[in-house]
Amino acid sequence: MYFELTPDLSEEHEHIKSMVHTFARDVLRPAAKTLDAVPADEVGGHPLYRDAMRQAYELNLHTILVPEGFGGMGLDPLATHIVLEELAWGSAGFAISIAVSQFPAFGACLLATDNDELIAEFTTPFVENRDASLIGCWAITEPDHGSDWLMQPDMEGAEKIVPNLRAKKVDGGWLVNGQKAAWVSNAPVAHHAYLFLNIDSAQGLRGNGIALVDLSSKGISRGKAWEKMGQRALPQGEIYFDDVFIPDNNLISDTELYPFAIDATLSIANTAMSALFTGVAQAAFDEAMRYARERVQGGRPLIEHPTVQVNLFEMFKLVETARAISRRVMLYNYQTITPSLQHAIAAKVFCTDAAVQVSHMAIQIFGGMGLSKESDIEMIFRDARMAQVEDGVNEALALTAGHLLRSMEGE
Ligand SMILES: Cc1cc2nc3c(=O)[nH]c(=O)nc-3n(C[C@H](O)[C@H](O)[C@H](O)COP(=O)(O)OP(=O)(O)OC[C@H]3O[C@@H](n4cnc5c(N)ncnc54)[C@H](O)[C@@H]3O)c2cc1C
Repeated sequence: MYFELTPDLSEEHEHIKSMVHTFARDVLRPAAKTLDAVPADEVGGHPLYRDAMRQAYELNLHTILVPEGFGGMGLDPLATHIVLEELAWGSAGFAISIAVSQFPAFGACLLATDNDELIAEFTTPFVENRDASLIGCWAITEPDHGSDWLMQPDMEGAEKIVPNLRAKKVDGGWLVNGQKAAWVSNAPVAHHAYLFLNIDSAQGLRGNGIALVDLSSKGISRGKAWEKMGQRALPQGEIYFDDVFIPDNNLISDTELYPFAIDATLSIANTAMSALFTGVAQAAFDEAMRYARERVQGGRPLIEHPTVQVNLFEMFKLVETARAISRRVMLYNYQTITPSLQHAIAAKVFCTDAAVQVSHMAIQIFGGMGLSKESDIEMIFRDARMAQVEDGVNEALALTAGHLLRSMEGE
């Protein structure tokens, strides 16, 4: 494990770091390596996926984003960062699956705090679940609208963009029709969704809302999972809605609350992404260090060669800078009710770019072995590359952050 620069790391922090690292090394990494070669449609039902998820739930790792008052693990922001980092050190795909599973339970706490009925349906059974028989997802991306969903409702043109998933008001609730894209993490195995939808098409993106949905509801079906480049341990797939009735009570954000709800959700998600991909960058660095010590060329281990040392230092610098920004942003964003989205985006973009750069450099240190499926590093590189698109293409996130910065002008 890396040298910990935080001087005041408590015994509890050390304990959780070591516990999650062991789980990531012994369970997640080997399972991810096998699932990497499994057809996408079979991952969610594969015994290795099911068993690793069950073990994560047994360790209570599926509740780290849920507030303690609602049954969450009650970690402080630093411990939350450490857990996310270590999970993704083992496998980015599994780490995302575990993290995103919490979104409906977390969404209820964020937007329906006083709604006992929703907390009882979406949060309490989830946090009490120990066998991963209850899995959640965050369904926002649509076939025709990916980056569009990242637009702030007050951005120019937002009123003209109408999402695919639309809800029409009916007696006692909403009738929902449309589709979510094949990129929805956990969709093939999820029971609950934190669902972004349009409730007033005349207002375009300004008419959006959020609902909590039981995915066994009548009219919901799943599509095929796409074969993808990386994070193959993470099941992803489409969700179709055909005249699905959602009760009024389940609409946890109307158009008025939506600007706060989307910002808070993106802030939490992007901050988590920065922690996760700091872990992926660390994993790539660790692999490169290990191999550079083992591999002998020119009569001495690679690590004795100055060019390799310079490259390892460059990688080390990127990992430590990623950790510095993501921990700083998490310390702020995970203990306030008004998190800073522009900081979350800066951290996400920096850390995912760093994970790609560090794993790219690691492959170079591995030489031919880094291009072989015998090594872990080629999987880590493919996993990292996904993250520059995942939870928002980095350039599209930059547009949103730029808009926020511009709005702050003169303050
Ligand atoms: C591993 C992974 C996990 C994911 N998990 C989830 C999940 O759990 N739930 C979910 O709902 N979605 C999920 N997604 C989807 C992800 O959030 C979207 O893929 C992402 O938002 C980009 O959307 P898109 O793929 O449609 O790309 P597009 O939006 O079509 O973007 C394509 C290109 O156009 C550029 N572009 C887009 N809009 C503009 C603009 N206005 N101006 C200039 N350039 C622009 C982008 O920067 C990009 O380069 C996941 C994706 C991945 C890869």
